[in-house]
Amino acid sequence: MRFAVKAVIFMLLGATLAFAKPTIYILATGGTIAGSGSGALDTSYTSGTVTVDKLIAAVPDINKIATIKGEQISNIGSQEMNNEVWFKLANRVNELLTSGKADGVVITHGTDTMEETAYFLNLVVKSDKPIVMVGAMRNSGSLSADGPLNIFNAVNVAMNKEAVGKGVMVVMNDEIHAAREVTKTNTTAVDTFKSPNSGKIGTVFYGNVKFYMNPTRKHTVNSAFDITKIKELPRVDIIYSHSNDNPDFVNLAVKNGAKGIINAGMGNGNPFPSALEALGEAVKAGVVVVRDSRVGSGETTLNGEVDDGKYGFLASDNLNAQKARVLLMLALTQTTDKAKIQELFLTH
Ligand code: ASP
Repeated sequence: MRFAVKAVIFMLLGATLAFAKPTIYILATGGTIAGSGSGALDTSYTSGTVTVDKLIAAVPDINKIATIKGEQISNIGSQEMNNEVWFKLANRVNELLTSGKADGVVITHGTDTMEETAYFLNLVVKSDKPIVMVGAMRNSGSLSADGPLNIFNAVNVAMNKEAVGKGVMVVMNDEIHAAREVTKTNTTAVDTFKSPNSGKIGTVFYGNVKFYMNPTRKHTVNSAFDITKIKELPRVDIIYSHSNDNPDFVNLAVKNGAKGIINAGMGNGNPFPSALEALGEAVKAGVVVVRDSRVGSGETTLNGEVDDGKYGFLASDNLNAQKARVLLMLALTQTTDKAKIQELFLTH
């Protein structure tokens, strides 16, 4: 008799555990996904007007698969994204995942700077649980708004066992991209997010998740950085190169206190001659200069057409300029040693 009672209790417990829904937090920051205009065909709209509760209410099916909790971190267009929101977001994600309160986190975000926030979180959050960023290219009131299905897919990725250990991911338009690789490539199209150097890591079709690749660079638990140890970020400017350029922006950046400069150079990271000399002077003044490229894909190689040894420049590997800026800011919180910073660019 006692045995029978125990067996029933074990069976009930097993069934409860088997059907226990994962807890997924949706942290909302704003963007077009939370935007609204005056009509379904109106191309003018304002980002960050819809609250997290309404975003969740638009996708009732996620409540069937997970225990969903929503929090509003900010409600801004991501062109307004800033260090203050980054720290708030990173600390909250870190706390939710390391405390065990959440099994995964979904972050709704504008698409303009989603790749920068994704890479920042990828480098500073200390958990291998899934962190999924999601947005939309069409505002919430638009005809064929892409936000609700993107959120449904993002929640499915965030609760997928195979998503563990992949760092921060961006889920948009049925595709899963790794934070380090993904970039926005089209101003208005729904298939704007691509990973030009390595391709997407997976797909998600109406919640059906499939992974094909793993990110190989250091992230989250293996990264050199930890959000709990970083209080502020130094100023790092991006300076874009072009034909018939001049040294003025480089000189101004140095004068105004930049600690680092990312040069989005021409081709394989080539600056115009007068800008090249100004960048060399910036190094002599103690600024860390990283050569990058305005091309959009491929590696910026050390000592290609530029004598990096002579000028004291570093090269970005194949990070785009906006991500190189994130990494250089974080690197400068630890060191100004150029060899160490170059090593961080080759490993993160
Ligand atoms: N400007 C918007 C933002 O980044 C664009 C978008 O979300 O698609 O917030």
